[in-house]
Amino acid sequence: MKVAVIGGGVAGMAASYRLMQQGHDVALYEASPYLGGLVRTFEVGGTRLEAFYHHLFSTDTTILRLIDELGLGDRMRWIDSKVGWFTRGTIYPFVTPLDLARFSPLPLVDRVKLGLMGLQLRKRDDWEEFERITAKDWIEKNVSKNVFEQVWGPLLHGKYGDAYDQVAMVWLWSKIHLRFASRKGGPLQKEQLGYLMGSFALYVDELERRLRAGGVDVRTGTSVQQITAERGRATGVVLPDGAKQRADAVVAAVPSAIFKKMAPPLTPDYDRRLDAVGWQFALCMVVTMKHPLSHIYWMNIPDQSMPFLALVEHTNFIGPEHYGGNHILYISNYLAPDHEYFGLSEDQLWALFEPALRTINPAFSSDWINERWLFKGPYAQPIITTNYRDKRPDHRTPVDGLYLANMTQIYPEDRGQNYSIKMGEEVAQMVVEDYAQRAADTAPGAVA
Ligand SMILES: Cc1cc2nc3c(=O)[nH]c(=O)nc-3n(C[C@H](O)[C@H](O)[C@H](O)COP(=O)(O)OP(=O)(O)OC[C@H]3O[C@@H](n4cnc5c(N)ncnc54)[C@H](O)[C@@H]3O)c2cc1C
Repeated sequence: MKVAVIGGGVAGMAASYRLMQQGHDVALYEASPYLGGLVRTFEVGGTRLEAFYHHLFSTDTTILRLIDELGLGDRMRWIDSKVGWFTRGTIYPFVTPLDLARFSPLPLVDRVKLGLMGLQLRKRDDWEEFERITAKDWIEKNVSKNVFEQVWGPLLHGKYGDAYDQVAMVWLWSKIHLRFASRKGGPLQKEQLGYLMGSFALYVDELERRLRAGGVDVRTGTSVQQITAERGRATGVVLPDGAKQRADAVVAAVPSAIFKKMAPPLTPDYDRRLDAVGWQFALCMVVTMKHPLSHIYWMNIPDQSMPFLALVEHTNFIGPEHYGGNHILYISNYLAPDHEYFGLSEDQLWALFEPALRTINPAFSSDWINERWLFKGPYAQPIITTNYRDKRPDHRTPVDGLYLANMTQIYPEDRGQNYSIKMGEEVAQMVVEDYAQRAADTAPGAVA
């Protein structure tokens, strides 16, 4: 079978790899000059680093298996997480139950309720109830208004902007449930986060090497313009130079809006599903510093007057000795695609960020900065609203032999490399099974 895979993020790469391993003739088309999509990297002090901070949980079993399979298992490290909240001018560590007990911005009764909420969600496997209600309504009803206003509301606002009150409780359930599940020794156990020493580019590069060595036609810098179909069946893709490449099946591992522009006519219901899911885009400034800003790896900033949602100090996770002595800080925002920040230059953004960093550490100064980079990640986080199961598009599209695999289809878990890889593998399997079924149906002697 000849398969065209569109999109060289980790979902498209995983689909291509599994199809290649089963002996199929695969072409992988990626618009940008490199593979990996949102797992793109650049170099700091001689070591590669993710443009967008990345770590794994122990529940990310699919990617961990793939990393082992690619011979990179010995590069994985598991490190105690250092999570904190910056609120009312103070950094509060937020890892253990004791940290929660000491979180004085919240009245004691609400701290207890917040702790109980975590324990309850950890135990609950029956997430269907959480599909039908927003996180705001569920928390206000079952925990307390204050816990929503002081804790979850500002975080949801930071991540989802004006859509903060539309996010389904199932999204928050999956975050909390999986995070607790990743603590092998139970809720009192400290959380550990995983990192591939040398960056996640190691597995992306090894996958690319194996794809090329296995005969996959990997074409970077090749933005697919159109998917062709005849009599309701996908027949191939059209490349930027107008060349038509024939294929028996097409896997589109790209965001829905991009897919819709290149797809042959679908059905009104499928079009509606493609349009139904909104996205937040990511804006991430990475700075290297002479000194650490704080002792926290992941600092939530639940304060709408601050110009960023979170600070991720990577070198409080993987030490600065791996990056030529640089201390690395990600200044992170998720924003609506039309947010004004996307129109600002790096210097204009820095003029906003710099005074805010000083409120976190008054000793901080621009002289600490060695280098700065600005990364924009379109289609970074789908917005999971209530009754999402009825809204998301299927992997099998209404056109025979045409499949869609993007982050809007990951559910009920939140998006992440693990689930994109799992989805890529599952869609590859669907392609193979459908092809075998079609071959059986059309074989001489098949009964109509
Ligand atoms: C800020 C941030 C932090 C994150 N943190 C973590 C984390 O800590 N842990 C974790 O596991 N995950 C994390 N993730 C999520 C993870 O990066 C994604 O789940 C995963 O990379 C998505 O892969 P994908 O292949 O589904 O999509 P993408 O990476 O978006 O790939 C889609 C690809 O399609 C290509 N494309 C688009 N149009 C065309 C076209 N016309 N022709 C050809 N190619 C095209 C794009 O260039 C892109 O490469 C994070 C993401 C962000 C943004």
